[in-house]
Amino acid sequence: MKNVVLLGSTGSIGTSTCKVVDDLPDRIRLVGLAAGSNVDLLAEQATRYRPTAISVTDPAKVDALAARVGENVEVLSGEAGLIQLATMPDADIVLIAIVGTAGLQPALAAIRAGKDIAVASKEILVMAGETVMSEARKHGVKVLAVDSEHSAIFQCLDGKPPESVRRMILTASGGPFRQTPKAEFERITVEQALKHPSWNMGRKITCDSATLFNKGLEMIEARWLFDIEMARVEVVVHPQSVIHSMVEFVDGSIIAQLSTPDMCLPIQYALTYPDRAGSDRVQTSLPKYGSLTFEEPDVDKFPSLKLARWAGTDGGLLPAVLNAANEVAVDAFFNRRIGFTQITATVERTMQALDNVAHPSFDQILESDRWARRKAGTLVGGA
Ligand code: NDP
Repeated sequence: MKNVVLLGSTGSIGTSTCKVVDDLPDRIRLVGLAAGSNVDLLAEQATRYRPTAISVTDPAKVDALAARVGENVEVLSGEAGLIQLATMPDADIVLIAIVGTAGLQPALAAIRAGKDIAVASKEILVMAGETVMSEARKHGVKVLAVDSEHSAIFQCLDGKPPESVRRMILTASGGPFRQTPKAEFERITVEQALKHPSWNMGRKITCDSATLFNKGLEMIEARWLFDIEMARVEVVVHPQSVIHSMVEFVDGSIIAQLSTPDMCLPIQYALTYPDRAGSDRVQTSLPKYGSLTFEEPDVDKFPSLKLARWAGTDGGLLPAVLNAANEVAVDAFFNRRIGFTQITATVERTMQALDNVAHPSFDQILESDRWARRKAGTLVGGA
């Protein structure tokens, strides 16, 4: 039995994690749950899974929530609540599925308390991958991937060291605008950007999949998770999303991991690792797909891939700046203050304005995140 703390329980990854727990009640127990503002769903989850403690962002909601869940469940709030959950004595693993970077401090707290972490929130590895991975090594804990691409690479690697790898090939569905001419990008609406062809996900990651920033963030995530330089991380467009990613080894052999797209699978693998637990949830009929196809990504249409390669190659503060500027720009797009193509343009201009620092301290990273949010905020405010 693994005791799991789930941060971001009310989101897309959070609710898929609950399905995995329903599938494997003898293997996984939810001991802590945290949400942002959806107190109704959090209360329902607390009633169903009986965790030791739960947390909500707004402290003003604690009393009402406590009255709904009963006295056996401790109700916490804010960042302190997330950190208390992440360091709970009875937790074995903390799954971080909070959108954005709010999961960074809880992730570090969990690692320092000796807990394994399962990371869905790729933003935290993009922003502070070096710190997270070096703290994990220092404390002897595992950082397990929840992202389907990184779970695939982890499974393909099967413990092989970075020197046995020629390249890692991340697959990308290509998003909803793979076949849209570049000339039409100016007119893309929020509604169109939120229709993903193969995955049903939260709003921010769905928009990131439309700009391909999601793949860019994943390139940097792979660089840190698997300790490999950016030059050996590549992207191939694979519209069927059946091959979740591949590793080409130094002898030329390519190993891939395949399944019908369903986030329950990588979540389950991260929570049961190193075991494989039986589940009928995911079934894959290859004849149904007929053919699997591949294309080069179009970096002219999707310059986010170039920006991510630049950030991941130069390192320092650039990845944190890319990530923060993207969050601000996506938000401005959702609020209809900027158009679709201005998301990437805003990120690029923010990155260009940075005076980068090699091997920054953790405080410098946090400061660059704040700086990039201010800078990008000015850019979208004036757009
Ligand atoms: P959603 O928007 O669906 O969910 C976000 C979750 O974070 C919600 O539970 C939300 O709570 C919670 N949350 C937001 N802010 C806070 C906070 N300050 N404290 C505590 N909880 C908070 O996002 P997704 O589930 O799609 O994505 C989550 C992360 O996983 C992202 O980093 C994404 O990139 C990554 N990911 C997602 C995949 C997917 O298939 N969805 C695939 C791979 C990675 P509430 O709703 O109550 O406000």
